[in-house]
Amino acid sequence: MVESILYDDQKGKAIGVRVIDRLTQESIEFYAKIIFVNASTINSNAILLNSTSSRFPNGLGNDNGLMGKYITCHNYRGKGYATFEGFLDQVNLGRNPGHAYVPRFRNVYSQETDFLRGYAIGMSASRQIEGSGDLVGDALREKLLKPSYGMWGMAAWMQGEMVPEESNHLRLSKDEKDKYGIPKLILSVEWKENDNKMTRDFVEQQTEMYERMGFKNIKVEDTGAPPGSDIHEMGGVRMGKDPKTSLLNGFNQLHACKNVFVSDGACMTSGSTQNPTLTFMTLTARAANYAVEELNKLNL
Ligand SMILES: Cc1cc2nc3c(=O)[nH]c(=O)nc-3n(C[C@H](O)[C@H](O)[C@H](O)COP(=O)(O)OP(=O)(O)OC[C@H]3O[C@@H](n4cnc5c(N)ncnc54)[C@H](O)[C@@H]3O)c2cc1C
Repeated sequence: MVESILYDDQKGKAIGVRVIDRLTQESIEFYAKIIFVNASTINSNAILLNSTSSRFPNGLGNDNGLMGKYITCHNYRGKGYATFEGFLDQVNLGRNPGHAYVPRFRNVYSQETDFLRGYAIGMSASRQIEGSGDLVGDALREKLLKPSYGMWGMAAWMQGEMVPEESNHLRLSKDEKDKYGIPKLILSVEWKENDNKMTRDFVEQQTEMYERMGFKNIKVEDTGAPPGSDIHEMGGVRMGKDPKTSLLNGFNQLHACKNVFVSDGACMTSGSTQNPTLTFMTLTARAANYAVEELNKLNL
């Protein structure tokens, strides 16, 4: 387990990491010329905040005190389901003819609603196999081999942009530690009024879409699921041009400690409405390429 990053005041750069052997609890140091912090958003924040030195008493590179702040994720609170009376002669192997995706359509070219940004919608249609829920063994096998299908149903879910707020943050506990002696994390992230309004809009819009498409038994609701249920955590070590308002530059280097790169979701300034991981991977590839170039030029 990486406990922290080692910073050398004299050299003015990071020199390696301190790890705790998970089995023996032994503390071991490893040294390197460059360090990529990619432990996933939450853990990357935790490692950096725990990397204190006389130069960086509040966490490595955290001169402006913004590290761990502006944590964001996606808003998946809005969910819908409805059935369709038709296409009963159609069955798709695997019972799933595919997913539909509605790209963000709110506030794309101008501000048109009482909330900021917008949401995409994912949809998935399938036919239920009737009466298989309470069967086991041979009876279930027989049923699955000779299924009788119910109506088509289509699920829908929103993927909303949670506008990052400074108050949505994570921090290290001052008095509680885990079994490795690493400070425990405290996450304090809540939905704001913008998220509530956006969810209400999804409920209205998705209901209308189902109605216009001729669906029946329409149920679209705000599930109230808490932030993080989407497992798309982002932010805390945000990228930006100005070291006063961001922690990383355009190549994912800490403004204040250039041989440390953070290129996972922690670098994101906001989450937009797409699945995020390909973006993290792309940023990582670019940052790694740049790091090698800089290393070869002896700049790091
Ligand atoms: C069920 C599920 C479904 C998902 N579906 C999608 C999807 O469809 N599309 C999409 O874009 N994203 C999806 N995601 C999100 C996606 O998985 C993450 O964005 C992605 O894995 C992040 O990659 P990462 O390398 O930053 O972190 P990870 O893949 O989590 O890797 C981080 C690694 O660091 C290690 N680590 C952490 N802390 C320490 C430490 N202190 N010391 C040493 N090692 C440490 C961890 O053990 C882990 O191996 C999904 C996530 C889940 C859980």
